[in-house]
Amino acid sequence: MKYKSIAIDGPAGSGKSLMARMLSEQKGYTYLDTGAMYRTVALKAIRSGIDTLDGEKIAELIKNINFKLVIKDNKQYNYLDNRCVDGLIRTNQVSKGASDVSKFPPVRLFLVEMQRQVAKEHNVVMEGRDIGTYVLPDADYKFFLTASNEVRAKRRLLQMQQEGKTVTYEEVLADIIYRDKQDSERDFAPLKKADDAIEIDTSKMGIDEVFATLSGYINGK
Ligand code: C5P
Repeated sequence: MKYKSIAIDGPAGSGKSLMARMLSEQKGYTYLDTGAMYRTVALKAIRSGIDTLDGEKIAELIKNINFKLVIKDNKQYNYLDNRCVDGLIRTNQVSKGASDVSKFPPVRLFLVEMQRQVAKEHNVVMEGRDIGTYVLPDADYKFFLTASNEVRAKRRLLQMQQEGKTVTYEEVLADIIYRDKQDSERDFAPLKKADDAIEIDTSKMGIDEVFATLSGYINGK
């Protein structure tokens, strides 16, 4: 039996995580946040004292990493060295590190295989940068969300403040700009809209409106 898949791509702060979560709940599908997987690899590099831009060392790290992706009740848990690290990967340092390590093909090949496996075994809403173009080119629905840099930085800032993090607007904006550039300029599976993806600029839209638009396409309303 073929499982259903919904791909949501876009830059940081475009609203894709929230939409992916809401859609997965509406449809009863598994939600896979692929960014969290790149973040977990970055956390391992940081913990090991490895420069996240050192391709050779990162390739070596990926050969030996003890990373387990657990799917339970449609939710994802990322285990590193036998511990769930989901509460540790949402810092600016890990964000930057994730963008750095995600340039290297050995990292992408390792994680993409796991991502495709999840889609073989579950109905999924998968969000990331290359889901519609590379991971699941045959996804049933593909969306590409965008928003202006300022709107994305404000959203990310609010989210991080709500999580109790001390961070400034300038730091968040700089992180977004650094990652967008690196993510869209890398050679292998860059951040890019798939030709057949529906693009939605969420800059001036509220959460309910974006959700209604996406679920309208999926549920044929
Ligand atoms: O989505 P999130 O901000 O958590 O992603 C962290 C980083 O992981 C991104 O900046 C990007 O470099 C990388 N990433 C990727 N491909 C994906 C998902 C995330 O390269 N499918």
